[in-house]
Amino acid sequence: MTKFSDLALDPRVLKAVQEAGYESPTPIQAQAIPHALEGKDVLGIAQTGTGKTASFTLPMITLLGKGRARARMPRSLVLAPTRELAAQVAENFDTYAKHTKLTKALLIGGVSFGEQDKLIDRGVDVLIATPGRLLDHFERGKLLLTGVQIMVVDEADRMLDMGFIPDIERIFSLTPFTRQTFFYSATMAPEIERITNTFLQSAVKIEVARQNSTSATIEQALVSVTPSRKDRSFADKRNVLRDLIRSEGDACTNAIIFCNRKIDVDVVAKSLKSHGFNAAPIHGDLEQRQRMATLDQFREGSLQLLVASDVAARGLDVPSVSHVFNFDVPTHPEDYVHRIGRTGRAGRKGKAYTLATPADEKYVTAIETLVGQPIPRSETPAPVKDAPATPTAEGESSGRRRTRSRRRNEDAAPAAVVETAAAPPPVVAEPAPQERTKQDHRPRNRNTREDGPVVGLGDHVPDFLTRSFAVEPAVISDEN
Ligand code: AMP
Repeated sequence: MTKFSDLALDPRVLKAVQEAGYESPTPIQAQAIPHALEGKDVLGIAQTGTGKTASFTLPMITLLGKGRARARMPRSLVLAPTRELAAQVAENFDTYAKHTKLTKALLIGGVSFGEQDKLIDRGVDVLIATPGRLLDHFERGKLLLTGVQIMVVDEADRMLDMGFIPDIERIFSLTPFTRQTFFYSATMAPEIERITNTFLQSAVKIEVARQNSTSATIEQALVSVTPSRKDRSFADKRNVLRDLIRSEGDACTNAIIFCNRKIDVDVVAKSLKSHGFNAAPIHGDLEQRQRMATLDQFREGSLQLLVASDVAARGLDVPSVSHVFNFDVPTHPEDYVHRIGRTGRAGRKGKAYTLATPADEKYVTAIETLVGQPIPRSETPAPVKDAPATPTAEGESSGRRRTRSRRRNEDAAPAAVVETAAAPPPVVAEPAPQERTKQDHRPRNRNTREDGPVVGLGDHVPDFLTRSFAVEPAVISDEN
């Protein structure tokens, strides 16, 4: 097996790698690094989680070790599709370059131009950027790309999905023809193939792991949701999601819940929160600062449930996510592989649940064809009345706290806990009007009783509303 010390990396890089606790290079590192150090272009077909970031960062730091940065002329450029991924690459760079004097700047939206300009003016060795922001700086005349010796394109397939390919082509054409290029993509769509044929020269192609395989450490399950009424599919799925999270109990330490649409990310997160879960949304329309804060909370464990869109969560590096819930079946089958790959990482066990309505059948079939095996079907979990798996950190009423301490004493059977009317009900936050979905366009009764909490009455609950209903929770109106 290859050792890091066999790879001709700068000793300062080796020291940092050792301090990071890495014992041996991952397959993509072992294969890519020797070619990269020889100055060759590399085409890496690899998913996130394979160690691909270090496979380009370690040789880059080694190669840039000699030479100095000049004002406004970065010596290398890393392009990532989203701000979060760019920030993640920057973090990796800091880890691996900590014993060198190399400098970096991160050019992403949501951060003021002034600070970024100052850094570039001084001269940086590594510039890490999203394509749009990089071009903004270029157009403002603050940046010259003619000094770029190494250019990295990370997650090119995601760039394609996000419509960044014309920007990438433009940026390529602004850098010198003599640059060295590292190009990474999880899949090789024809458009990606065309770009690599145009801009890479005699590239060494390295492919690790079958691109559409799912890890054996992930236990998968498909949960059928048959809507009680045609217009209730969204609400019924929210019920089932809550039941699933509760039925997992303490095993669900943290989870990413994927929705297909940003609008639903917000509504699902709000709904979970109103039911006492510790949940927050992340998607591209949220402010950068908020996205970063949410991710930090999720990484450090103070946030249990991250409700996300594909783009926002793609490639995020949180090593121990216990569960993934696909609130919606992804319409692109590759997204299924990416989504469930957020759990079961680095040999750990993970669980991935997918909620599917009869209308999703064709998407489920496409996924099963892609991964080459059926997704095991699972029973719909028994409905449980509101008793959050993990309570929210903020905004708890004392009644809720009482419910929780009671729950702690009943750990043996968490799923059977039923909240009593003695606890003041949480006030359910209504989605903003623009967040309402098609299914939500019906008369709204603010005093509607959901499967437990009462909406819109503050702390006062009239007696008639505390009586139990003789109907299944799934058919009780769910407005939030
Ligand atoms: P990436 O595919 O670049 O997103 O990396 C996934 C994770 O693997 C990150 O948390 C890295 O810190 C970690 N990692 C990268 N290289 C190694 C290695 N050689 N040994 C152990 N972990 C690694």
